[in-house]
Amino acid sequence: MRKILFTKNPIYLIFIVLFISIVFSLLLYGTIKLEKNITQKMIEVSTFDVISIANNNASSIEKSLQTSQKAYSKELELNPKLRTQIEENLSLLLTSNIKYAYLIYKDARGIFRFLADGAKENEKAFLNQKFDIDNSRWLEIFETKKSLIIEHGFSHQLSITYLVPILRNNEVELVLAIDFSIKKIEEINKILNWIQYTIITIIFIVIGFLILLLIQTFKYLAIKKSAYTDKLTGVYNRNYLQDTENFINLNEYILATLDIDYFKAVNDTYGHDIGDKILSQTAQIITSTVRINEDIIIRYGGEEFVILAKINRNDNLSALNVIERIFKNIQNTQFYINNQEFINVTVSIGVNLVPHKSRSFSDAFKLADLALYDAKNKGRNNIEIYDEIKNKNTESTLSINEIKDAIEKKQVVCFYQEIIDAKTEEISYYEALLRIIDKNGNIVLPEKILPIIKGTFILRNITKTILKICYKKLREEKDIKINLNLNPKDIIDNSILQLLKNFALEENISSRLGLEIVESEDLINCKEAKDNLLMLKGLGYKIFIDDFGSGYSNFIYLTEIKSDYIKIDGNIISKILEDKISFLLVKSIIDFAKEADIKVIALYVNSKEIFELMKLLGVDYAQGYYFSTPQEIKV
Ligand code: GH3
Ligand code: MG
Ligand code: MG
Repeated sequence: MRKILFTKNPIYLIFIVLFISIVFSLLLYGTIKLEKNITQKMIEVSTFDVISIANNNASSIEKSLQTSQKAYSKELELNPKLRTQIEENLSLLLTSNIKYAYLIYKDARGIFRFLADGAKENEKAFLNQKFDIDNSRWLEIFETKKSLIIEHGFSHQLSITYLVPILRNNEVELVLAIDFSIKKIEEINKILNWIQYTIITIIFIVIGFLILLLIQTFKYLAIKKSAYTDKLTGVYNRNYLQDTENFINLNEYILATLDIDYFKAVNDTYGHDIGDKILSQTAQIITSTVRINEDIIIRYGGEEFVILAKINRNDNLSALNVIERIFKNIQNTQFYINNQEFINVTVSIGVNLVPHKSRSFSDAFKLADLALYDAKNKGRNNIEIYDEIKNKNTESTLSINEIKDAIEKKQVVCFYQEIIDAKTEEISYYEALLRIIDKNGNIVLPEKILPIIKGTFILRNITKTILKICYKKLREEKDIKINLNLNPKDIIDNSILQLLKNFALEENISSRLGLEIVESEDLINCKEAKDNLLMLKGLGYKIFIDDFGSGYSNFIYLTEIKSDYIKIDGNIISKILEDKISFLLVKSIIDFAKEADIKVIALYVNSKEIFELMKLLGVDYAQGYYFSTPQEIKV
């Protein structure tokens, strides 16, 4: 079985990479949070002392002013001594970290002004000097009347302004401001920053990788899609089925196989290119008829499609309706050939309504295919539904694998039935009939073998096996003649033709080997088959038309094939004594054959009466239980 090799599906990698990038993002978030916490803790620790000193200072200022009747600013303006004392106290607060300590008030126009400043003489702000606030939170204190911390973050150190309100009559009159700074713990920050930069770099790399992966995934999906798509028709191809059949839930679908009727004739008449066009138009009709995203269409082989129609829980019929609509739509379509010509194409469809009863997709498929062969056998252009009851006895048939095994283990044998010369009543030919001896030693008849392998290469292998058995028999028994059955497809099979050509190289083989072919439209429509039959005749083989009268009875056909013998269908012969039409039919076949110089063999000659009547009508040979049942040749 051919498997398409794809490069590995990158979709799993995407998930891994996504996971990695989430982990690193969380790490980054963690370090940022950690840095914030550390800074916060540092501020808390470092500001604790400053705050308590500032609060003490503010309350001592408040106390020293409380006796005044005037506004505090006015009082201090008029009392330079008190102001100097306060400024001295403020200057005591200054350290290497506490840069400034000063008193501020807001004048009637809302402008902030200095009232006292603890700075050294040459740096000191003068009384009523305008003070520009650098942060709107200064205004907050007049509302909240509570002290507050304003942080100005810088990279290496934190600058902080601590504001304490000084109240009079429960209104903020003055603000004590202290500017101080806290050095960050550089080492920790360095490490944290380094970790952050590393994580950010990794995240960027991972994101880059993710983008590459996404591109890869799109490419991968595109390749996969094209490997699963049939180029000609655009529907899924067999690769798709091979890779997904184990995942198809057989409970959810009904399974139909659809095959275009007489497609070979279309190719032969209009050429392969037109054949292609008709194939893709057919696929288009199917695609436009099925329900999008529910039903699945697969081009299974040359002109055979598989349709999985989804079962609707509320409406069991809808899946089958889809199949019927496909059938009708194809039937009603005029297929374009060229500007002057349109043709109609029909299809045969086999449906398995109960795929869930099969163990595997391929088992379910085989049952739909069995129904398809039924549809073909009933004359084509129809839908057949696999019938469990009718096919019950398929249980007693062999499976495809058992048949394959039987071929390998040489359990395929031939039984031979005599063909009697009507005049001399002596054996003229033997017809080789297929039998398989199963593992219990039972003899399995062709009707339990052929329907299973119809249309498969195994049928061809069986034919080859029988050919070889007959050839061997002819070499062992120099005086007998053997006929074997070929089906129309065998006649266009190169390996079978080659075998027949090889046998014909040997003296006295082809003249003793008759080829029986069931009359069918397949044959008449296939130029190649007709040419091959003529070639085989040229090699010395005799051509027998089998079961003549059973289906596509056409006298013209006989002249086209130029057969040497016809074998009249056993079902007509067996009714000949009581049914006038059968009698007349046999009579006319024999009369025609005599005119055309074709010899006639009667099948199913099961009684003396029938044989006598046949002789009377002028039949040349007879075959049936009246003479012998199929068995080993006794010489
Ligand atoms: P039946 O009614 O029994 O189905 O007869 P049929 O002629 O349709 O079936 P058969 O299997 O004898 O022939 C199928 C033909 O389809 C043979 C092959 O040349 C043709 N075919 C297969 N694949 C393609 C393709 O891709 N393009 C074309 N143009 N023909 C194809
Ligand atoms: Mg076909
Ligand atoms: Mg036969």
